[in-house]
This record gives sequence, C-alpha cells and structure tokens, in this order.
Amino acid sequence: MLGNSKSRQRLEYMKDYVVFDLETTGTSCYKDRVVEISAIKVNDKKVTDEFSTLVNPECSIPFYASRVNGITDDMVEDAPLFRTALKDFLNFTGDMVLVGHNIHSFDLKFIYRDAEAYYGKIPGNDYVDTLRMARMCLTELRHHSLSDLATYYNISTEGAHRALNDCRMNQAVYEKMGPILQERLKHMETCPKCGNILMRRTGKFGEFWGCSSYPDCRYTRNI
Ligand SMILES: [Zn+2]
Repeated sequence: MLGNSKSRQRLEYMKDYVVFDLETTGTSCYKDRVVEISAIKVNDKKVTDEFSTLVNPECSIPFYASRVNGITDDMVEDAPLFRTALKDFLNFTGDMVLVGHNIHSFDLKFIYRDAEAYYGKIPGNDYVDTLRMARMCLTELRHHSLSDLATYYNISTEGAHRALNDCRMNQAVYEKMGPILQERLKHMETCPKCGNILMRRTGKFGEFWGCSSYPDCRYTRNI
C-alpha cells in the first residue's frame, strides 16, 4: 500500500502474508523493466488468493531474458503497462507483509523505483526476504537459490522462472523454514531498536554485537 511509512525488513515467520515475484528484462534495477508480476495471498498459512499478470515493458525483451523466463515480445504486446499492473498489485497486497526471495536486493528495488516514478510514493509494507532467512536456517547448504531450496525440500521446480510458479515454490519453502527460524530465534538476542537479531561482528576495536539489519539499523553493543 502506498503511504508515507517506511518499510522494514523483518526476519520472522508469520501466518498471514503475500508472496510475490517479478520477471524482468534483465538484472539491472536501473535500466531493466518488469515483464511479469505475480503474488499469492496467504491467510492462516492457507493460500486464499492469487494475482498474476504479464506486463508490457515498452521495450523489446532481450533474448537472454526470454531464455530464462520464456516470456517473449508477442506475449506482452497486449499486456497492461506496469503503471497499471503495479497499482493492481498494490491493491491486492493492501498493507500485508510481503515475502519473497532476494527481494531486498532485487524485486523491491524495481517496485520502489517505479512506484516513485508513477505515483510519487513508495509502498510501506514490511517484508521478509527468504534468501536471508535461508542463509540463517539452512547453514548446511552452500547455495540458497529458490530452486536449491525447493530441491532440498522436495518441492516441484517445474515451471520455475515464471513468476506465479516461483511464488508457489517460495510459499512452500517459507512454510518449511518457518519452524526452523522460530527455533533459531529462541536462542538469539534481538535488537532493542528494531527487533531483528544481533550478530557477533568484528571491527577495528575488536568484537561487538551489531544489528543484523545494518545499515538500516546501526545499533551496537559491547560484548
Ligand atoms: Zn536493529
């Protein structure tokens, strides 16, 4: 939902949320464009609604992007522009917490950039990045891509890299990691300023406790 509140990254498992995913023309959040946006609404751990639309990016889709997601120029020719699709997406999400894989460094950058350009405001929804969650919960895995996690949990990866399929995989993975995260959090101290976990860090003057959401939160404490 658009507003003036600032979104906050959370490291939490919750029962109500919206998982979302984007497909794009490439990996640059400066010059690339969205070609598909999908989302799944979950209430009390159960899927209650879905949202998915292709998007006309107003440019041609590079071959290397089509090869990943299978989305071609003809498929998006009559699709809505992102100005419209993004508004529909934000109406779908309301003020629910957003969940997604690598959204902190990727998907949300596209959303914020375009919401700012189209409406002059950005959505203030808090969010959980399942990549960050996986790095904490599944330390035995070397790689934490969404497909790696799905494979680990025996979740089907069929149709990966189309946004709605990725949302379904991501939702299943989030539910699997939820109990592990809750268990881990019990043994960890949380930041008094923002509620994220504290991590042991090393600086110029030795070790200290620092907030895991640095640089968003700069809380530190001596060990
Ligand atoms: Zn903090």
